[in-house]
Amino acid sequence: RDLAPTHALRALAVLEAAGHEAWVVGGWVRDALRGCPAHDVDVCTDATWQQSEAAFEAAGVEVHETGIKHGTVTAIVCGQPVEVTTYRIDGDYSDSRHPDSVTFVRDVREDLARRDFTVNAMAWHPDRGLLDPFGGNEDLAAGLIRAVGDPARRFEEDALRILRAVRFACRLGFLIESGTQAALEAAAPTLDRVAQERIGSELRGIVATGRASWAIREQREVMFAALPELAPMDGFDQRSPYHVYDVLEHTLRVMEGVESLTSEGASERLRWAAMLHDVGKPTCFTIDDRGQGHFFGHPAEGMRMARALLRRLAIPHELAQPIVALVRYHDRPTQPNVSSMLSLIASVDAMSGLRERSEVIWLMRELLCLRRADALAKAPECRGYAYELNEHERVLGQIEREGLCWRVRDLAVSGGDLIRECGMSPGPAVGEALSRALGAVMAGELRNDHDEIIAWLARSLAE
Ligand code: ATP
Ligand code: MG
Repeated sequence: RDLAPTHALRALAVLEAAGHEAWVVGGWVRDALRGCPAHDVDVCTDATWQQSEAAFEAAGVEVHETGIKHGTVTAIVCGQPVEVTTYRIDGDYSDSRHPDSVTFVRDVREDLARRDFTVNAMAWHPDRGLLDPFGGNEDLAAGLIRAVGDPARRFEEDALRILRAVRFACRLGFLIESGTQAALEAAAPTLDRVAQERIGSELRGIVATGRASWAIREQREVMFAALPELAPMDGFDQRSPYHVYDVLEHTLRVMEGVESLTSEGASERLRWAAMLHDVGKPTCFTIDDRGQGHFFGHPAEGMRMARALLRRLAIPHELAQPIVALVRYHDRPTQPNVSSMLSLIASVDAMSGLRERSEVIWLMRELLCLRRADALAKAPECRGYAYELNEHERVLGQIEREGLCWRVRDLAVSGGDLIRECGMSPGPAVGEALSRALGAVMAGELRNDHDEIIAWLARSLAE
């Protein structure tokens, strides 16, 4: 019965004591009705933002002006934020992107009517109960995403809602109601009017659910409109004995593979990397005189394309860099021995931008998971490679346990040591000497021991 947490109830009480009406709305109501209230609380009210602010201040509650243009202030109640927004309707959307204006209104039902989907358009109050004018609760029970009002018009007003529908369907495991689905498909081309960073943030939401493969299978046109790089993969025949699927179907199986190979689901970056790992293939294709297909340099091209598209979508650098590294190195031949693995780790490390050794080792585990999924989605004769990777896992474990080094800074000598103990003068030669020593240590020709490295370098400098 009690759908709202105490801090939200307190915010409602403060507003009502000051003579205003207020409800809990949106995502919190939706998730609480589903039995998983893991959501920020949004409150809507007939008070203007100035009145809300005054009410909280009078009650001694901390309050911040977080979006006054849209009528939003944020109250901090018992240390928890509650967003409080004046009832409003959005003005015309002349560009399908931003409302030209927002208009504040007196009636909560008008505020609910401007919201995107029925499951997001419910309000709740501890005394007045659930206010659900569009049948959101019923759609929640049926597992349906349904636009509020005329779907074609709603997608025309704001094309981003096309991707929001797909994101909520992925997240909740819902289907999209057929009228909404038809309108969304018709409107998919208008996604090109939406700012790339808004598309990027919805795509992140979709990928983070682990169900982006479902989205690509079932909402193909929408996903291709949001991420045009996927389209050339569709139906792309690889003409290769290693493959039985076209590039897109192979990719979808790799995306599903990384989910099933990880006990708690793949990380966000591994999910992106699985989706993008073969993105370079269609532009790197040639057919030989026997009619067989070959890809030249597709991981490098994939790296360039992944980097460019992640940048365009304004995906944060810290997330993008490891994704790009996974795409770049998903296919590099590596022997299951220490020196071959160390050289792969060094390459991945340099591209990933990660700081800690342990983070790099973890990314390597994800790389091996991607390789396993990749092998399992190829022709049956190639799938054995997935089991060979057990050996690579073992070597990676050894590298981690024994603290073997792949970075100059992990060497048992520093540049200062070389200057002091080998009589080198400061300059680029010191860095070169350290790299040579690192190469010998990684190849297993030299132990990572201070005295041995100094002696080895002294010998090679004398030569
Ligand atoms: P989550 O934040 O977990 O993704 P949410 O339901 O809180 O889910 P938000 O994007 O935070 O989604 O938006 C809050 C509410 O505002 C939504 O529940 C919906 O009612 C409304 N809303 C948000 N974006 C739009 C939009 N583009 N068009 C119409 N209504 C929207
Ligand atoms: Mg939200």
